[in-house]
Amino acid sequence: MPIKSRSRLPYLILLLLTCTSLLALTAYLLGGSPTARAGKQPVAEAAGTAGESVGNTSTIACVVIDAGHGGEDGGASSAVGLLEKDLNLSVSLALRDLFEAAGIPVVMTRTEDMLLYDRNVDFHGRKKILDLAARRLVAEKTAEATERGACLFLSIHMNAFPQPQYNGMQVWYGTGDPTSQAVAEAIQTASATLMPSNTRKIKAAGSNIYLLDRIKTPAVLVECGFLSNPAEAERLSREDYRLALAAAVFGAVMPFCGA
Ligand SMILES: [Zn+2]
Repeated sequence: MPIKSRSRLPYLILLLLTCTSLLALTAYLLGGSPTARAGKQPVAEAAGTAGESVGNTSTIACVVIDAGHGGEDGGASSAVGLLEKDLNLSVSLALRDLFEAAGIPVVMTRTEDMLLYDRNVDFHGRKKILDLAARRLVAEKTAEATERGACLFLSIHMNAFPQPQYNGMQVWYGTGDPTSQAVAEAIQTASATLMPSNTRKIKAAGSNIYLLDRIKTPAVLVECGFLSNPAEAERLSREDYRLALAAAVFGAVMPFCGA
């Protein structure tokens, strides 16, 4: 199914305003931005985990937005043929617009329907691993070129499971930088504005998630919802829901940008 990406600006502005209000309230209730709290107290405590300390957080100066899958790798799919790769790109482009409107530099791993492997090398049987290596390279090169602070690697995916009853956003984080856990917690908490019944918790990524395991800058992977759940797949098929989802993620990350 084609995913619309035009005429988003009015939605984005409305969502941005809503988001900013929620953010201000949250910041007030938590006693300041995560950046302001850096090094002072465990961020996870304020963000709602079981009192687990995550250490100092960095100020985020740029964002690498990674729309998962693409091209011949469709990722997960819904019962009616909705492809994860298309939804990932739609949410990622909305996130790009929001961060850029806020003055945060953005680098996209892809803006088109394609995998990132070099067509000039022998890629047969290695497309996926070459693609992941290329995404990692984008993250590392961007981080190297950024002098004002850390660069957040923000990977967008959709989930799927054989049993259709499972639903809800879930955020994974890399363990290379303590900021990752704090950002993941903030995004997971923000997702409650979209789905109050979602009780999923953030999870640390192991070697099973190649990019989060290897990227040493702050890195999170957002599983936006389950395409295997018909109700959630229907929500994800709607552009207004995807924009709301992007706005929730953006609103959760912005306090780490020193805003
Ligand atoms: Zn995926």
